[in-house]
Amino acid sequence: MHYAILADIHSNLAALIAVLDDIKRRGGVDEVWCLGDIVGYGPDPHDCIATLRRTKHVCVMGNHDGAAIGKVDIAFFNPDAATANRWTARQLTPDESDYLNHLPLVIEKDDFTLTHGSPREPIREYLLSTWSAQENLAHFSTRFCFVGHTHSPLVFACEETGGCTAHHFEPESPLVLGERRLIINPGAVGQPRDGDPRASYAIYDSDARVVNLHRVPYDIRATQTSMMTQGLPAALATRLSHAM
Ligand code: ZN
Repeated sequence: MHYAILADIHSNLAALIAVLDDIKRRGGVDEVWCLGDIVGYGPDPHDCIATLRRTKHVCVMGNHDGAAIGKVDIAFFNPDAATANRWTARQLTPDESDYLNHLPLVIEKDDFTLTHGSPREPIREYLLSTWSAQENLAHFSTRFCFVGHTHSPLVFACEETGGCTAHHFEPESPLVLGERRLIINPGAVGQPRDGDPRASYAIYDSDARVVNLHRVPYDIRATQTSMMTQGLPAALATRLSHAM
């Protein structure tokens, strides 16, 4: 079976469509595993939710999804993120809010735990250090875990006895699943922050036991124009080009 791992779509339809087209070009997948933050920042909350719902998928809740329906406090959001979130909240139909409201915080699929931030703090924790990766091992029971939230492709590889190393998840550099426990971040579809503005996602091949990261160019200008038309903060639009 093949699964596409999509994190942090952030209402960026051009990026989402480019990724789904790329998946199709590669022969398609059996299911999409979405790691949350479908909405927030970008201009297309309706179309991103609708497109995802037309695709066979499972999804966990991200902090921006929760904030858009009033489940997560935006006190910790920076001013631009808070502005975009209030705009997003005004766009959502009752049906879309209901869909977001029913997203679980954690899902187990196959050998993987799926969550947005981290297994111990699904909504809030940014998994950035080997130390926090190690602490999180006790908070999920599958061998492997997919997380999003930092918008940066990263792999933590941990020995069963503890001790994790971290490396940037390079595109087209297959990650073979073995004995070590792994926490894998596939980067962001809709707002990369690792210096590469191309959309980022991964495909897990459960027969080959391999996870592969792909980067996909998309029409950044189209998303930026749409954000400006909607009156979203300009800094959020320019950020898409810098990917920082
Ligand atoms: Zn995010």
